[in-house]
Amino acid sequence: MTQWISDVVGPGYAQSIQVESILYEGRSAFQHIQVAISPMFGRMLILDHAVQTTEVDEFIYHEMLAHPALVSHPHPRRVLVIGGGDGGTLEEVLKHAVEHVTLVEIDRDVVEVSRALLPSICGRAFDDGRVRLLIDDGIAFVRRTHEKFDVILVDSTDPKGPGVALFSEAFYAACGRVLTDEGMVVAQSGSYIFQRGLTKLVREHLRSLFPLAMTYWAAIPAYPGVLWSFTCGSKRHDPRALPPEQIAGRLKSVSTRYYQPHMHPMAFTLPPLIDG
Ligand code: SAM
Repeated sequence: MTQWISDVVGPGYAQSIQVESILYEGRSAFQHIQVAISPMFGRMLILDHAVQTTEVDEFIYHEMLAHPALVSHPHPRRVLVIGGGDGGTLEEVLKHAVEHVTLVEIDRDVVEVSRALLPSICGRAFDDGRVRLLIDDGIAFVRRTHEKFDVILVDSTDPKGPGVALFSEAFYAACGRVLTDEGMVVAQSGSYIFQRGLTKLVREHLRSLFPLAMTYWAAIPAYPGVLWSFTCGSKRHDPRALPPEQIAGRLKSVSTRYYQPHMHPMAFTLPPLIDG
């Protein structure tokens, strides 16, 4: 039975994707969860009717959230992922010689459904001995922990439900406290076309808390409007200052399909209307 999933982003715009069947549908304590099969994107994870990740293009988003900071930080040993219950970002982090990754996901159902129905996205990431999976609210964790991290990756839903707190200045300030002196935080900051206010808000929060803050972009077909943003706050290292040869050196043992040395400077090149 063919139907269309309509992913509404911001006021007045939606992107519809045809689906052939729904593999899973349920409601957790936090959100409506679906796994659908699309002729264009393969299996897709959908939360509260928003496409989160798809088999066909998940590598773009997960590579672009994880690698720019992990390549720009000289020695990322301890990494924290907030959200990311589908395991895609985790799989990318584990490609680096990190010592330990903590993933804090509020919804256990997302992890269980992803591991069962989306193995091409999470692979065996959750089974890696370096991983600690915590089912918890990300903002509660960063407020409570006494641990320090080199890189924090915020792989959250858009600001609705439990995701709202992960776009607050208080959350980013708490991230700053649990980052080391050279720490970097990267957050998915929405569509820089249809959610420009959100992208701007994240960048303003990070600019007020970190000496360096910048937005970068990637083209993610399954996301409404395709052009998506990430925003980085950094205590010392500027990802824009990294020469391609150094990126190539740090990517030598990391296999990627979208993020490549020549894509790095391009990602940080934005039209003035966005990077104001
Ligand atoms: N790639 C997706 C995107 O850009 O929209 C995000 C994928 S991941 C599935 C988003 C995850 O964030 C969800 O599993 C959701 O449960 C989780 N999440 C939302 N709010 C959270 C919070 N306060 N603490 C921890 N995880 C949270």
